[in-house]
Amino acid sequence: MAWADPLPGGGFRGGYRDSAGTKKYVKDAATGRTRKFTRKKDARDAATEEEISASRQAAVDTGKQSARIPWGELWDRISGARDARPSDTYVTEHCLVEKYIRPKWGDVHLNKITSKGSADTGVQEWVDDLTAGRVDAWKYERQPSPAYVRRIYAVFQASMTTAKDKGILTASPCVGIKLPKKTKRAKPYLARDNAEKMGEHLRNYRDVVDFSLETGLRPGELCGLHAHNVDLKRGWVVVCEVLVARRRVIRPYPKDEDMRAVPLTPKAIEILDRQLDGRSLAGGCGVEHTDGTECTGALVFLTKRGHPLRSDRVGDWMRRAAKKASVPSVSLYASRRGFATRAADGGLDVFALADAMGHADIRQTKEYVQQTAAARQRLIAALGEAPTLTVIRGGADGASHGADVDQQPSSSDSIEPDQNAG
Ligand SMILES: [Zn+2]
Repeated sequence: MAWADPLPGGGFRGGYRDSAGTKKYVKDAATGRTRKFTRKKDARDAATEEEISASRQAAVDTGKQSARIPWGELWDRISGARDARPSDTYVTEHCLVEKYIRPKWGDVHLNKITSKGSADTGVQEWVDDLTAGRVDAWKYERQPSPAYVRRIYAVFQASMTTAKDKGILTASPCVGIKLPKKTKRAKPYLARDNAEKMGEHLRNYRDVVDFSLETGLRPGELCGLHAHNVDLKRGWVVVCEVLVARRRVIRPYPKDEDMRAVPLTPKAIEILDRQLDGRSLAGGCGVEHTDGTECTGALVFLTKRGHPLRSDRVGDWMRRAAKKASVPSVSLYASRRGFATRAADGGLDVFALADAMGHADIRQTKEYVQQTAAARQRLIAALGEAPTLTVIRGGADGASHGADVDQQPSSSDSIEPDQNAG
C-alpha cells in the first residue's frame, strides 16, 4: 500500500514497498532524486503506480509473470536489459518497436499470440502484411525491403524468446515462420569519382570519408581508431577498437582473432600524416574504454572542436555534400563498400578481401567479387566469346546504387544489422 510523507520544507514524497519489502520513494526520472509533490494525493497516486510497476517487474524477473500481460508491457520490462548491451543496435530496436511492432502487438496479450491462423494475432499473417506493405505505418513510405522485414521480425522474435526464458510463456509462437527472401540487389556504395565530387562540400570530414574509402574501416572503427594502432613506417593499421557513439565508450574487440591489420595506401598515409601532424598523441582519448583500461593514446579523427567523431554526424554531412554535388546520397557504410568494390574490381581475391574487411563469413565478401567487370570478362572469355568494347563499368551495380536502395528511417549509422554486416 503506497503512502505520502510530508517533507520538511513543504510538499510531499510518495513512498511504497517493493516486492522484497524495501521502502522506496518515487524518483524524478531525469535527476534520479526523490520527487517532490505539491499535493499529497499526487504523491500517493504516483507511488501506487510505481508499486504496481515494481511488482510487475519483479514478477517478470522471477518468472511469476502471467502470460496475460500485453506485449507492450513485456517489452517495457525487458527493453532496459537489452539497452544495457554495449552496442548501438538498441537505438534501431527502439525505432523498429515504436514504428512497427508496438502498433501491432502493444495491446495484445502474450497468450493470445499464435504462430498462424488468425489475421489479428498470427505472427505469420503479420510478417506477410509487413512484407506486402499492408501496414499503416507505411502508408506514406516505400514498401520495406525483405531484409528490413527480417530485422523487424528478429526484434519481435527476441522478445518472445525472452518471454519463454523467463517462464512467462511455455513456448514461443515464433516457430515455422516463413520470412521474405532477401533480394540479390547490390547495396549502395560510394564510387571514387562521386567521393571526389562530394569532397569540397565535406570540409573537415573529407579525410574521414576518403580514409574509409582507402581502408574499408567500419564507421565505428573509423571513429574509434587510435593513433597508436597506426604504423606509418610500415604502412599498416591495426583495427581493434570501436567507438560506440550513443554510449560514448570505446569497445575493444572481444576476441583477439577479430582484430585485423589493414594495409595503408599512399593516400591513406597522407591523410594520417595530415590528421596527426603537430598533435600531442599522449594523455588519453578522453573516452571510457569498456575493458577498464586506462587509455594513453589519442583518436585519429576528431571534430573541428577536438571531440570524438560521431558517424551519424559524418553521415549528415555526406548527405548534404551529395545533394550539393548532385550525386546519389549514401551513408558512411557505403564508402566501406566502395573500398570493397574497388578492391574486387582490381582483382583482389575473395579471401584477401575478407581479411581486409574483417568478414567472419566469406559469403559476405563474395557479394563484392561476383559482380565485377573482371569477373564478367573472365566468364565471357571462358565461354569463348570475344570481349565486347562496351564493358559498362558498374553495369550490374552502377544503376542501382542510387538513393532508392537501403534507405531506412532515421539514424543512418545504426541500421546495419550488426558489426559484421556488409
Ligand atoms: Zn582511448
